[in-house]
Amino acid sequence: MTYLLEALRSRVGEFVSLRRDIHRHPELAFEEHRTAALVAEKLEGWGYAVERGLGGTGVVGTLVRGRGTRRLGLRADMDALPIAEASGAAWSSERPGLMHACGHDGHTAMLLGAARHLAEEGRFDGTLNLIFQPAEEGGGGALRMMADGLFERHPCDAVFAMHNMPGIPQGDLVLREGAAMASSDYATITLTGIGGHGAMPQHAADPVVAAASLVMALQTVVSRNVDPLQAAVVTVGAIHAGRANNVIPHTATLELSVRALDRGVRALLEQRIRALAQAQAESFGVQAAVEWRQGYAVLVNTPAETAFAREVALELLGPERVTLQGPPLTGSEDFAFMLERVPGSYLFIGNGDAPGSCMVHHPGYDFNDDNIAVGSAYWVRLAEKFLAAEGSPVRQ
Ligand SMILES: [Zn+2]
Ligand SMILES: [Zn+2]
Repeated sequence: MTYLLEALRSRVGEFVSLRRDIHRHPELAFEEHRTAALVAEKLEGWGYAVERGLGGTGVVGTLVRGRGTRRLGLRADMDALPIAEASGAAWSSERPGLMHACGHDGHTAMLLGAARHLAEEGRFDGTLNLIFQPAEEGGGGALRMMADGLFERHPCDAVFAMHNMPGIPQGDLVLREGAAMASSDYATITLTGIGGHGAMPQHAADPVVAAASLVMALQTVVSRNVDPLQAAVVTVGAIHAGRANNVIPHTATLELSVRALDRGVRALLEQRIRALAQAQAESFGVQAAVEWRQGYAVLVNTPAETAFAREVALELLGPERVTLQGPPLTGSEDFAFMLERVPGSYLFIGNGDAPGSCMVHHPGYDFNDDNIAVGSAYWVRLAEKFLAAEGSPVRQ
């Protein structure tokens, strides 16, 4: 494995420059035109068959070797965030108000680093699909690519993805079988009462009091309805009602973020939140309307593919630098939708744990370029092992 890491380190400069170039030119969800063009051009230059425009700005690069029937998908995301950068890096964003604060610039660079190595030196037998998706940050780019026929046009027997994560030593890999990232749903609850004079509440039906009570009642969903051994989050992140101290408003609106790590718990949360909204509203003589929007699904890593990914990680870095079963996160990720269709596994690569290092989505965040060689090596090794030719041992 040292051979592979050294080989990728020896040409990492090209991909560090590329990562910083992408970092300087961040693009929001479904607007990744420059990034997608750059990815497509590189892949074509290395001999990949390239399909552009899947899911808007998605790109798939395909390389077929030998007569193997196995088909592998490796996925990276390309979008940035509407955050004004304050990292102080020399390669800071040149687009005001936009930045790569989630390291997707690094994901793209790591997969391109692997793409070049696999095209030039890769020993594999089968079909390699490199999937560069738009709009991971809330836009559901994975779903859009799938709606455009991603897995019909480029069938995969398994798909894998990785995300950089601060707080983990640089280059260490953290895997997890089962639910690894939460579902993320949104609810808007509108309580409609009867407005009136603040001095004469007996003539009104006050939606503010009902909203206040509902916020407290919602806290009991996690504490009283969900199994204590399961994880769930119900956050009321916004509450809007009224404009004057002496006017009882007609309506009050609550905005909720609802997360779960289990599909059953996810359904229970929706059912209980809807029931509480109705019952609370009724008890205060107001009406409740609940608008429920499903966001990303629970991300579930399948057992066989996670075991396979663990083997790859252990071969590459050894047991000291690999966590076989890390904790789940209550954040969410749209790779979950790909895993609902195709088995696979998603892991974290440590961005470093220096004191004061900030979380992703912070204006000071920056992907750690030391991860490019490690991340690319993981992809190369995984591809060569998954698509290994019969009787041809993978070069160590
Ligand atoms: Zn993010
Ligand atoms: Zn991200």
